[in-house]
Amino acid sequence: MFAYLNEPGVEGIGIAFTDRLGGASRGQFTSFNLGHTDEDELSALRTNMHRLRERLGIGPVCVVKQVHGTTIRTIDAGAALAASEDAWLGDRVEGLAPLARADAQVSTSGAVALAVRVADCVPVLLADEATHAIAAVHAGRVGLLSGVLQAAVGAMRAHGARTLVAWVGPHICGRCYEVPAAMQEQACAVIPALRATTSWGTPSLDLGAGAQDVLEREAVQVHRLDPCTRTDARFFSHRGDHGRTGNQIGLIWRVAGHVGPAAAG
Ligand SMILES: [Zn+2]
Repeated sequence: MFAYLNEPGVEGIGIAFTDRLGGASRGQFTSFNLGHTDEDELSALRTNMHRLRERLGIGPVCVVKQVHGTTIRTIDAGAALAASEDAWLGDRVEGLAPLARADAQVSTSGAVALAVRVADCVPVLLADEATHAIAAVHAGRVGLLSGVLQAAVGAMRAHGARTLVAWVGPHICGRCYEVPAAMQEQACAVIPALRATTSWGTPSLDLGAGAQDVLEREAVQVHRLDPCTRTDARFFSHRGDHGRTGNQIGLIWRVAGHVGPAAAG
């Protein structure tokens, strides 16, 4: 279920990166799928999310429809409290609000849990040790180049964040993420740290190195928790599974009863 859980941690904040093991989904989604909610069996999706929440003791998990952009969704405690258990299935279940289109979620108060869904792209979790602001960011190639990480950091700083920590989760590595030479040149003109070579000697991009470079330039402390999703069988991989696969998530939440100074009083 978990590739990483609360390690290394920040007091009052929970973080997790899931893997594909220990769930109820079948076929290409075997088995702990928490994405592709329009295709997987509804009962399996609900079982998987229930197991996750039971295990962690958290409320409804906030998700967005990720579109490789830089739009940030700010979640306040009231919205999170009002969310139903099925809210994350908003694009699937009739009567629920459709998911907001965004690639970063930021929350500054309350017992809120934020998830980013991935299967090769980079999941980045952010927390501020002082204010306990948190964020979950979908940082694939397009998002990285568009500045989604800088946008999320900027939004947290605008809410008073001062000492930011980031966890870069499992994604496809630079030895596997082959791209056309022209695409590599275009990307490295924006973020030189992306430049890499596949294990078979062709141009590639190292998204983790790129994310780390962007975050460190923003004075964020970075933890890399990122085995390769394409070669490590614990993970869903868009490329490794030829586009037919599920999603693992990066999840960050405020621990109940320890909701941080921003929510005090
Ligand atoms: Zn790899």
